[in-house]
Amino acid sequence: MKWESAALTDRGRRRPQNEDAFLTRVELGVFAVADGMGGHAAGDVASRLAVQQVADAITDAYSRRFGIRRATETLESAVLRGNREILAVAGREPDKAGMGTTLTTLALVSRDRRAAIAHVGDSRAYLYRDGRLSQLTRDHTWVQEQVGAGLLTQEQARRHPFGNILTQALGTDAEIRVDTHAFEILTGDLLLLCSDGLTAMLDDDGIGAILRESPDLEAVAQRLIDQANERGGHDNITVVLVRITG
Ligand code: CA
Repeated sequence: MKWESAALTDRGRRRPQNEDAFLTRVELGVFAVADGMGGHAAGDVASRLAVQQVADAITDAYSRRFGIRRATETLESAVLRGNREILAVAGREPDKAGMGTTLTTLALVSRDRRAAIAHVGDSRAYLYRDGRLSQLTRDHTWVQEQVGAGLLTQEQARRHPFGNILTQALGTDAEIRVDTHAFEILTGDLLLLCSDGLTAMLDDDGIGAILRESPDLEAVAQRLIDQANERGGHDNITVVLVRITG
């Protein structure tokens, strides 16, 4: 299995600093996006700790020869490790108390021609295949729970004033539930990991339209950022794109 990737992050137009972080370990096929929160309570520290823990976890115990099950377990334990580390740092350093972050991770598993995702929070993973965009993760948000209960539509959720209230994040609780998902990969698939600074500004149709514009992943990443900024850039914007080329 072969792949290529591009990643970009941008402060957006409203926030004083960028609290998102991302990881691309292209040679291993492991990628991550984290969206920190906490403002002066160091959201940027939380997101960087989260992706660093993923990087350390795969350096310690990951192989390109892993099958889908071990890859999924490794991602899940990396997310849990990130949570423990953030809680530990926040416990030691009072100025960082209350910091938190989302974390969405992806591993490409050549042996099985599959991919694994493990995530907590509302940074999303999408699959773009045959001209259609599908969301692979379900947001851990209050509005998504309302959608699940049939009380809000997806579009109402996207515009809801409480849209950014998370039901789960790293750094908020010693016990978190990591969602994992494994799926088959086809040549030509395009995977997108992104923070909510993209999805709050662009709906799925808007994202899909940009993904189909160009074969150049760097150009597509830049277009996604530019479009989110043109629509207001209310939040930090991070995109990681991965295309399966063979
Ligand atoms: Ca955000």
